[in-house]
Amino acid sequence: MSADCIFCKIVVGAIPAKKIYEDDDVIAFNDIKPMAKVHFLIVPKLHVETLKDCDATHQALLGKILLLAPKLADEQGLTGFKTLINTGREGGQEVFHLHAHVFGGGAMLPKI
Ligand code: AMP
Ligand code: ZN
Repeated sequence: MSADCIFCKIVVGAIPAKKIYEDDDVIAFNDIKPMAKVHFLIVPKLHVETLKDCDATHQALLGKILLLAPKLADEQGLTGFKTLINTGREGGQEVFHLHAHVFGGGAMLPKI
């Protein structure tokens, strides 16, 4: 837990979020500024700033996050979706607690 981290605060319930999934290791909740009809974030409970800060000790956690994406996307009614992990300021990351975006279901999606 990092005291000034917004996602750590969501993990401990100090800030509300529209939670769609939670287990011992991860939490998933709707993005506050959705970029598509469905847009949620999969967040490890462990405070790790970026994907760059991960190593072999995070392998299972990263695998869990990726495998949750299709499961939760399916539960949200998506037949296809995009995943995105912004890494570092140059990579567009704004919240420095590792997270995977999952979005789909709308014309607002950029065609990358
Ligand atoms: P990134 O640019 O990858 O760091 O994305 C951070 C994302 O977190 C953005 O899409 C924000 O809209 C989202 N976000 C920031 N604060 C909250 C919050 N309190 N609840 C839900 N999503 C948030
Ligand atoms: Zn954090």
